[in-house]
Amino acid sequence: MANIIDGKLVTSEVRKTTAAEINDFKDKYGVTPGLAVILVGNDPASAVYVRNKHKGCLEVGINSYEIKMPEETTEQELLAEIDKLNADENVHGILVQLPLPKHINEERILNRISPKKDVDAFHPENVGKIMLGKYAFLPCTPAGIMELLAFYNVDIEGKECVVLGRSNIVGKPMSQLLLAKNGTVTVCHSRTKNLADVTKRADILVVAIGKPRFVGKEMVKEGAVVIDVGINRLPDGKLCGDVDFDAVSEVASMITPVPGGVGPMTITMLLKNTLTAAKLSLIK
Ligand code: NAP
Repeated sequence: MANIIDGKLVTSEVRKTTAAEINDFKDKYGVTPGLAVILVGNDPASAVYVRNKHKGCLEVGINSYEIKMPEETTEQELLAEIDKLNADENVHGILVQLPLPKHINEERILNRISPKKDVDAFHPENVGKIMLGKYAFLPCTPAGIMELLAFYNVDIEGKECVVLGRSNIVGKPMSQLLLAKNGTVTVCHSRTKNLADVTKRADILVVAIGKPRFVGKEMVKEGAVVIDVGINRLPDGKLCGDVDFDAVSEVASMITPVPGGVGPMTITMLLKNTLTAAKLSLIK
């Protein structure tokens, strides 16, 4: 049976270190890192995410600014709010909770956030820097996965790494980070032929497709490390990942559960990025 990669445990360790670093930073520079989160509209899932980000900030000593805007907010009003936060010295990180209402162009909004405050690392300048390996921020979910792999001493160098999913927020940056650690990386997507043949080559398999329990035992090599990014809500209200946890646990050497694997790391990495942004703000 596979060993469990415990995201809650790693999160609590990383938060302790981050809180201590923030404390030192405050003592040394008299600056408290600040994170502004903008929530537009009434999506209940988004409201939960924003609340958790707020709690995380309080836990590690970051000032949290929650900006709630109504569903009918115009793109211009949202851009104006971002401009205000870009200019605010107390705000070091800015995050716009996605998805946005349909009448607002997501790309225009994300591109307006100052790259120095872009703690989600979605701005093209930061995406480009990741490609070049010269980044300040890493996108939170892939960065959290790298922390998990490091914590459990999973060696990446020279390993066959397969990333299932090529989204801009998970799959693509994940492949870059594994490549930067000298993994041999293959990215699969909905047009990949003979998918199981490819995933079965993986020593490290990262799955981010948003399909409940899609990856079964027959798609996984004996001894593989399996990272399940998926968060899917089943009809009975329970959460499950993109990997069939029980079946795959019989062949994998390590596996992340859902919930309690990758999920808890994402906000923790956001908190780390906010500290980085506060440090960057001191470099004039
Ligand atoms: P996304 O933008 O919907 O992208 C899904 C990717 O999966 C696409 O590249 C798509 O291929 C591929 N795909 C879909 N069906 C496939 C199939 N049958 N076979 C092979 N590839 C397939 O998703 P995302 O934003 O990356 O999110 C993926 C999952 O991770 C979701 O469940 C999401 O909720 C979860 N998530 C979790 C966290 C966390 O903190 N734990 C963070 C972000 C996302 P094409 O490109 O060809 O369409």
